[in-house]
Amino acid sequence: TPSVKNICFVGAGFVGGPTAALIAYHNPHMTVNVVDLNAERIAAWNSNHLPIHETGLPKIVRIARDGTKEAQVILSRGFDSLSSSSSSSSASSSSPSSVIRLEARTPNLRFSCDVTAAISEADVLFVCVNTPTKMYGVGAGASADLGALEAATRTIAKNAKAGAVIVEKSTVPCGTARIIQSILLQHRPETPFEVLSNPEFLAEGSAVANLMRPDRILIGSSSTPSGLAAAAALRSVYAAWVPTARILTVNTFSSELTKLIANAMLAQRISSINAVSALCEDLGADVEQVSRALGADSRLGAKFLHAGIGFGGSCFEKDILNLAYLARCMHLEEVADYWTSVLNINRYQRERFARTVIRKLNGTLRGKKLAIFGFAFKDSTNDTRNSVAVHVIAELLAEQPREIAVFDPGCAPEEIADEIARVVDGAARGDKKLSSSMMARIKITSGWREAADGASAVCILTQWDHFRDASSMASVQRAAPLASTDNLSSILSVEEQHKEHSEMDICVLEQIVRNMDQDTDADDPLQRLVPPEACQSDCKD
Ligand code: NAD
Repeated sequence: TPSVKNICFVGAGFVGGPTAALIAYHNPHMTVNVVDLNAERIAAWNSNHLPIHETGLPKIVRIARDGTKEAQVILSRGFDSLSSSSSSSSASSSSPSSVIRLEARTPNLRFSCDVTAAISEADVLFVCVNTPTKMYGVGAGASADLGALEAATRTIAKNAKAGAVIVEKSTVPCGTARIIQSILLQHRPETPFEVLSNPEFLAEGSAVANLMRPDRILIGSSSTPSGLAAAAALRSVYAAWVPTARILTVNTFSSELTKLIANAMLAQRISSINAVSALCEDLGADVEQVSRALGADSRLGAKFLHAGIGFGGSCFEKDILNLAYLARCMHLEEVADYWTSVLNINRYQRERFARTVIRKLNGTLRGKKLAIFGFAFKDSTNDTRNSVAVHVIAELLAEQPREIAVFDPGCAPEEIADEIARVVDGAARGDKKLSSSMMARIKITSGWREAADGASAVCILTQWDHFRDASSMASVQRAAPLASTDNLSSILSVEEQHKEHSEMDICVLEQIVRNMDQDTDADDPLQRLVPPEACQSDCKD
């Protein structure tokens, strides 16, 4: 097995940054360089305000990037939790397989824009660039856009040292490892490179916990001696903290396909229970009760069975589109249709939600203000890409409300605005006047009160804990004098809404919010909602 001393991550995004940090943290004797073309992102990784908000990440980055003068207790095996940042000679292993090292750390994690230099030093190169849905030409709206991956591969081909192992970390269509291999061959016909598939299964919002204790690490390689040796080298990197029984080695195609199917099956569970929720509402059954009873079946399991307004984010939709496109290319129309139906239900569910809001506001939003609580595609992340909220907002905008005020406790206002503009531009189909008149109705606020003030409805579209907490929502209700509901036919309490739509993120508080300034309740639980900059406070010492 070739020994790995130097690793390079190409792409410092939601996957590259945290994965590199965890590998560096657990392999203090390896140098880990993370490179990106985006100088702003690299500057953020080098600052105290990381570009990605994940619990525990600032601490790991700080230890690996900045090193420690004092001895650290590093529990490098057996999935032990993070040690404290101060030395602790009395610390003992909480797991029989733990290896405790007491040592000061020199920095071994670097972020930079010097892509070629970092590539040329690396024994192992992880390609973690974005692979979005292609939006032009052949396969538009369906296939994966491999432009960034091709560009990164070309740079690697020109600069990598002979024998470096290239690891495909991005989610890609089956067969992409072969494309990478052929690009390498084109540029460096004399130099052999091994290409491995090592897809990432972390979930945003719990990235550090997932990386610390992965269910499995999947490594796909060719079955040649050099392919198996490359897989063994990569395995040794993960074996620093992942039990070897959890490191699965398969062939490259199986690995690439497994990642697409894993996301498709998770999304399919969500669409399945959401389809059930529509049935429940018509039949008078309670989807939460159904979901609990289904989840008690050990064959089904309880996870991913909560009804709601569907999934958003940069992965599920794109990966299903990609999978369906792959099936269509192989003329497997039924297979493609099967997976596409998961997306159809997802769209149906959020449209149904938007229609419910409109119906409950007497079928018109004209002259009304709506408040959107939560914009991130899920809680505990600052990722706004393709969130459910952006699509619901687009639906509501079509009804020409006076204003839609958006508040999210974790997302940067400019990222919210950019994402809304992207979707609104698409909806306006190039009509600049229409798109700017739609955008003029959007207001992004830094506090919940400002968003709720004067709103006819508050729609909760991200499951931030603050919004799920019944006492928090009671506070919104207290702040909103329900007496002035002259334009509403019925009032639903938060509890009733939760019952109707399950614990998740659908909650329309029909109300006119007035006199917000007079609400000076010091114990108001919603005061816990913090502006975006405060969400980064754990980056500070
Ligand atoms: P991202 O957009 O956050 O990050 C990608 C980064 O790559 C960007 O910062 C971009 O500037 C950089 N980049 C693009 N081309 C480059 C080049 N030629 N050289 C150097 N840097 C370059 O994307 P992400 O969310 O980290 O996702 C990356 C891949 O991982 C995607 O294929 C995605 O499907 C997959 N994935 C994502 C998640 C997730 O939760 N976000 C989970 C598992 C897998």
